[in-house]
Amino acid sequence: MITRLENISLKPYNTFGIDVHADGLIIIEHVDDLRTVLGDESLNGISKLILGGGSNMLFTQAVHGIVLLNRIRGIEIFKEDDENVFVKVGAGEVWHEFVMWSVENGFGGIENLSLIPGSVGAGPMQNIGAYGVELKDSFYELEAMNLSSLGIQKFSAADCKFGYRESVFKNELKNQFFITSVSFRLSKHPKLNVSYGAISQELEKIGVVNPSVKDVSRAVINIRQSKLPDPKVLGNSGSFFKNPEVSMAQYDAVKQLHPNVVAYPTFNGNMKLAAGWLIEQCGWKGKVVGQTGSHKDQALVLVNYGGASGSEVYQLALEIKKSVFEKFGVEINPEVNIY
Ligand code: FAD
Ligand code: NAP
Repeated sequence: MITRLENISLKPYNTFGIDVHADGLIIIEHVDDLRTVLGDESLNGISKLILGGGSNMLFTQAVHGIVLLNRIRGIEIFKEDDENVFVKVGAGEVWHEFVMWSVENGFGGIENLSLIPGSVGAGPMQNIGAYGVELKDSFYELEAMNLSSLGIQKFSAADCKFGYRESVFKNELKNQFFITSVSFRLSKHPKLNVSYGAISQELEKIGVVNPSVKDVSRAVINIRQSKLPDPKVLGNSGSFFKNPEVSMAQYDAVKQLHPNVVAYPTFNGNMKLAAGWLIEQCGWKGKVVGQTGSHKDQALVLVNYGGASGSEVYQLALEIKKSVFEKFGVEINPEVNIY
């Protein structure tokens, strides 16, 4: 039995808490449900939007079409050797619950990605990352249904073309596939990554000397809970913009005028500038504009104080982008998917 809802508010389905309506919403619990819905001729020509946890979406308009809400569940170890376990996860599993499953089992690789909201299936979309670790580091393969042919296709890491908050699914293959499962290679002998200063500081604070995956996860959770607004309390979609990557020459030019610029080298010889710092320097941190604004502790996070519309948030984002460009000559672009 497939659940179908009509003319429904998407407010409970996006962490920004934007109140827009969709003509219809269908809950997908099995791959077969998806095939049935996509093969339903009465729905031909009607646009379809895939939604997981709605934690990386800004709705600026109503959805004149159908939302396919991904709730395909299941976690299964399908292979193991001395070093690793290989786990296939239903794309509708909640990401953080999967991380907790991994941590409780002592498997390593995704503990730094604790408390990222959303679904497992959306993880590869932007190669989710935090505290020096990205999904691609533990990725094995994924399965996705081609929305036209309804065939299931496997994608390797190379096929996914993972980049910094990027993948093929945000670019060449945008809106062409529904990711149905993601498989991971998790380590039985974890090598912890505590390269981000905040993690080692937190471990010290909680008195841990030889950390386990569980300790690192706990540290990440503590840091995130202390810094980031909880979407259940204050609507937001995490970092609104990506950190811009600039050439060394452009970085030098910025640094000459702004010696305190916060930046980190990238693997390809460029520099990644901290977008939050750039926005803060333009005076946006904590600023309230109507029902929206930049968060008081984290300038990169735009928030909904209650009744903001998506267009209001988007307008603010455009103004922030413009002021950063005027001050630093650097372009910042949204990480959040704008609908
Ligand atoms: P949704 O918002 O539902 O969808 C996002 C996009 O993916 C949409 O375009 C949608 O159509 C598409 N999509 C979703 N599921 C599928 C699927 N199965 N197949 C094909 N397309 C699909 N992100 C990080 O990378 N690192 C962080 O540290 C981080 N921290 C965050 C903290 C907070 C408080 C919040 C609110 C967000 C944060 N995010 C972070 C952003 C967000 O949580 C991630 O991008 C997450 O992966 C989005 O998952 P979702 O299921 O909510 O995706
Ligand atoms: P932060 O620790 O205040 O650092 C600011 C920025 O500097 C981060 O964006 C991070 O880049 C970069 N950075 C810090 N230490 C670094 C290091 N040792 N090496 C390379 N880059 C470094 O950041 P924060 O905002 O509190 O976020 C902490 C982590 O959680 C970050 O990894 C961030 O990406 C992630 N996060 C993401 C979202 C989202 O919605 N995408 C929301 C909240 C937090 P990176 O972003 O490239 O790591």
